[in-house]
Amino acid sequence: MFENKKRVYRFGGKIAEGDGTMRELLGGKGANLAEMSKLGMPVPAGFTITTECCAEYYELGGGYTEQLKKDVASALEATEKQMGKKFGDPEDPLLVSCRSGARSSMPGMMDTILNIGLCSATLPGMIKKTGNPRFVYDAYRRLIMMYSDVVMEKAEGIEPEDGQGIRQQLDRMMEELKEARGYKSDTEITAEELKDLCAKFKVKVKEVLGVEFPDTAEAQLWGSIGGVFKSWNGKRAIAYRRIEKIPDDWGTAVNVQSMVFGNMGETSATGVAFSRNPATGDNKFYGEWLINAQGEDVVAGIRTPNPLNEATKTEQNKHLQSLETAMPEVYKELDAIRKRLEEHFHDMQDIEFTIQEGHLWMLQCRIGKRTGIAALQMAMDMLSEGMIDEKEAVMRVSPAQLDEILHPILDPASEKKAEVIAKGLPASPGGAVGTIVFTSEAAMEAAAAGKKVILIREETSPEDIEGMRASAGILTTRGGMTSHAALVARGWGKCCIVGCESMKINLAGKSVSFGGTTYKEGDWFSLNGAKGYVYATKLDTMDASENPLFIRFMEIVDKFRRLGIRTNADTPEDAARALAFGAEGIGLFRIEHMFYGKNSETPLSKLRKMILSDTNEERKAALAELEPFMKASVKSTLKIMNGKPVVFRLLDPPLHEFVPKGVEKEKELATELGISVADVEKRGENLHEVNPMMGHRGVRLHVTYPLIAETQYRAIFTAQAELQQEGLHPIPEIMIPVTVSERELRFQKAICEKIREQVEQSTGEALVYKFGTMIEIPRAALTADRMARTAEFFSFGTNDLTQMTFGFSRDDVGTFMGDYLGNKILDGDPFQTIDVKAVGKLVELGIRGGRSKRPDLKCGVCGEHGGDPDSVHFFNKIGVDYVSCSPFRVPIARLSAAQAAIKQSA
Ligand code: PEP
Ligand code: MG
Repeated sequence: MFENKKRVYRFGGKIAEGDGTMRELLGGKGANLAEMSKLGMPVPAGFTITTECCAEYYELGGGYTEQLKKDVASALEATEKQMGKKFGDPEDPLLVSCRSGARSSMPGMMDTILNIGLCSATLPGMIKKTGNPRFVYDAYRRLIMMYSDVVMEKAEGIEPEDGQGIRQQLDRMMEELKEARGYKSDTEITAEELKDLCAKFKVKVKEVLGVEFPDTAEAQLWGSIGGVFKSWNGKRAIAYRRIEKIPDDWGTAVNVQSMVFGNMGETSATGVAFSRNPATGDNKFYGEWLINAQGEDVVAGIRTPNPLNEATKTEQNKHLQSLETAMPEVYKELDAIRKRLEEHFHDMQDIEFTIQEGHLWMLQCRIGKRTGIAALQMAMDMLSEGMIDEKEAVMRVSPAQLDEILHPILDPASEKKAEVIAKGLPASPGGAVGTIVFTSEAAMEAAAAGKKVILIREETSPEDIEGMRASAGILTTRGGMTSHAALVARGWGKCCIVGCESMKINLAGKSVSFGGTTYKEGDWFSLNGAKGYVYATKLDTMDASENPLFIRFMEIVDKFRRLGIRTNADTPEDAARALAFGAEGIGLFRIEHMFYGKNSETPLSKLRKMILSDTNEERKAALAELEPFMKASVKSTLKIMNGKPVVFRLLDPPLHEFVPKGVEKEKELATELGISVADVEKRGENLHEVNPMMGHRGVRLHVTYPLIAETQYRAIFTAQAELQQEGLHPIPEIMIPVTVSERELRFQKAICEKIREQVEQSTGEALVYKFGTMIEIPRAALTADRMARTAEFFSFGTNDLTQMTFGFSRDDVGTFMGDYLGNKILDGDPFQTIDVKAVGKLVELGIRGGRSKRPDLKCGVCGEHGGDPDSVHFFNKIGVDYVSCSPFRVPIARLSAAQAAIKQSA
């Protein structure tokens, strides 16, 4: 099992045994240290212990093979030779650092130990050699703090009470000392005080952890190596892997590297830099540095760091000296390295460096993380610089980053300073800031007065639509990712958080409480829809969408995709927006949406009349009143989509949603129908269903009431005929929802054909259309070959298909999805990303079955998954023709489709 293989790879001194391609074995950090050494850059010598040794370490129950021990000893010897010092030498000791490094970067998740090798035997020699006791004891106290925390506490699985961790206890001791002496900064503590503090630290470590602090260089080194291996299975690292979907068996490498010191006086410094600005993408060397400091001081934010150069000074640091002017020679060397690294890696680099007594050392480089707007800017700049090709540019912007660009977001800087008071499901991204209201009416009133509001509801219903439209953001207690609120908000690109279970609403008191704290109507809230974070304060927002770069980027994206991209839209406004975002048609026009929102009062009252009709006569009369509204709605969208296909999906509302609520509405309807209020109530009650999601909806409604179907067919065909007479080119596609059998389709097709013939006769127009079905129930997917005998196209309604396959109600899933995810029963929310194993399999079977009867069968996806990047990759693979998603997701779907095609061709 522990065969003879290479376990340790040396680097530094302009040579290396590994290289940048060996991330799997050396981890990202180790591979790049090797690569930088190969490029002849000044990397302090050291070695990388491979990720395979991490697995061995666990297999051995926390031990090392003999071979590893030998390899480490000989690599250490080589390092000593290069640095001209010996590890553990009492005269002139070499100190080393020990850092983790997984294949893909897990920033801040694992641990680092610096200054290893300082002990009773080496301290005096080190002081003599440097002539700087303060520096040596400062290094020693840092070692004690890091080592006791990482190796002696965390790696041992000790979980102290809040605030009682060894690191925190030691931090407090140091703070107390500073306070007693009246010092503001760590640098004011004297050598003697530090020496005394180190002695006290060691006593504390023994007292708290029950073990002596190790006092030989050798023990510290192996303790640190084990500590880093163990940190792979630390709580934070495991949690991070879950979120980022990093496999547990990758393991971490360990990098042991000679220490260089940025805290040796006024000619020493340390810094962090990016080869381009990671927030804006600006092609300017950007970074921060501190004179006389160690790396952790820059990151910890105790001192305000200096700017790297004159060109990137900001309001906060303009009074501080730049490296460019303080150490011009070193800056020039660093700037040359930055250019060389970018040319070599073809991407923005995140760099750590240290300057020891005027000499520059490179400690790390890696691909830098960046904001959405920076990703876009860099991809386009690097393309025009010739650094990358178009394919690579398309791959450089992630769908999440594109999403970020398309929505106003909370300003990350202001968000950082605020406290998250609750978390919910991130239903629709972007940021929203406004005062809170609890009813749709209050939202509309406030919006009419020009105020920005956040609408807080238990859950939303179609009646809340106007209020939702008027709000900057929506926050609900209940609901899942495809609940009404989520779906609608996403459709508008409006920030929305649902399923925020910790929120208790008191409607009567117009207040809401989280834990013990209550907020009243009018209080400021901010929402981060991408993360599901709620803040009870007014934060700043940013907007980055009108970027001409975005438009150019999307033109390149479209060169690579195979999948068509349509949109789910049911108003001319949404259709126009989607067209602007590049939609090639409408994949789902939900007819019932004309009864929500703006100008819906009259058609809604006609619909209610129809729903509550008792006889065919009543129904027919109500439908006749409804038809002109329907035709107008259909026509306006067909018009704007001229020359592009529009899929009209027949009414699919659970009817009870439209039953009037409230005495006023009931009275109105009673008058219209010429019956009593009691009768209206009774008829409404008769429509009540125990399980409306599986009740009298979709095609079933049209089987019971063919008249309702006829009205819709007539509205569509009349609109088509009129537009043709106006010289336009409408392309309607008619789609039947919630079907389970071909006979349902034949039943409907006959009615549809009858109406088409009637309209053709009355208008003299030839009416060409396509007749198809949704596949959103497992039975339909499994009998797709039969469905395709009548259906000319399929559109997979993956919202319902997920609901029906899992048996999870899409409107109630918020109550338990968190538990399923938390307990790792599910890897992800199947309403967000397609469940490939079952729902995806049904889609695949459906396509195969359908095309076995009709080889040219067009297959689309119109569930919410159509705008989800991972799902789009899957749909691309299994031969879907197009996906259809909310207007705001169209660019994301275009990008995902292009990336899927590029990946697949590779
Ligand atoms: C679906 O079920 O996936 C779908 C698109 O239809 P709806 O969301 O309207 O049920
Ligand atoms: Mg559906």
